[in-house]
Amino acid sequence: MAGYRGRFAPSPTGLLHAGSLVAALASWLDARAHHGVWLVRIEDVDLPRCEAGADQHILRQLADCGLHPDEPPTWQSRHATWYDQALTRLIEQHDAYACHCSRKDIEQAWAARGVVKARHQELVYPGTCRTSQRQASLSATTSFTAPTRSPAWRFKVPDDSLVSWVDRRLGACAQQVHTSVGDCVLRRADGVWAYQLAVVTDDARQGITHVVRGEDLADNTPRQILLQQALHWPTPVYLHTPLVRNAAGEKLSKQHGAPPLDTQRPANALAALAGAAHTLGLSRLNAQGAATPADALQPWVREWHHRWVLSLQSGSQ
Ligand code: GLU
Repeated sequence: MAGYRGRFAPSPTGLLHAGSLVAALASWLDARAHHGVWLVRIEDVDLPRCEAGADQHILRQLADCGLHPDEPPTWQSRHATWYDQALTRLIEQHDAYACHCSRKDIEQAWAARGVVKARHQELVYPGTCRTSQRQASLSATTSFTAPTRSPAWRFKVPDDSLVSWVDRRLGACAQQVHTSVGDCVLRRADGVWAYQLAVVTDDARQGITHVVRGEDLADNTPRQILLQQALHWPTPVYLHTPLVRNAAGEKLSKQHGAPPLDTQRPANALAALAGAAHTLGLSRLNAQGAATPADALQPWVREWHHRWVLSLQSGSQ
């Protein structure tokens, strides 16, 4: 497809593991099946969480697996000017506002309304700083930290924000963003750019037409669509890939101890690719046929083309 631009956007908080390779392989296959361009963007916007050298190691792992980007890789830590321009535009349009609330303030604001935070629960922002008369909206039982530090910046999610979109794999999806997520952070009080703003800005600036990524990110999509609309940027086509789970049924992740992939030897890279292909429902490798990752990839490109490009074009899926 002329003009197709896809990307793989790993966070270098660790090396590639069996789960992240699924998104890498799927995004590469989709770009190849569309005769498009495939980019790699290192999402190191939250530098303190990144692991030194993990970016180069990830690029090496991808190369070992035969997944070579068509343009030089980019690093989010070098895109601060883009994010700054996007945030300025949102502030000028009154689509973003400064927020002085700490986590504790948010918990207390909800507690004052009788809502107690469960462990690991992310509370929807109660909208305390949404209006300029912030003080007037404070509950008497809520003690807010004095706004001495820099504020965070939040996106003002429209009140009637029912976002519907069609994911190529998950089908019709919808989310009421205002009530289920609330006004998300664009820039944290410590100056770190938030994932939502960074990813939307980069996708637009890099002309990304198709996003292929893990299903754990699917519920971020509606927020990102609202941001794209506020910034008058096009919305890419989305495909969220299946997750790899450990024996306990948890999503494979660095936090859950997923081991980094050893891809140095072609046989190991092939085995890693075969695992990712299996998760994506692609055919098993023909052991005699594929001696290198490049040999294995070509049949999968054809299979992907039939499954995710041709069949969707003819409306059979
Ligand atoms: N950097 C994100 C991650 O590693 C992926 C972001 C995206 O693909 O939109 O989970």
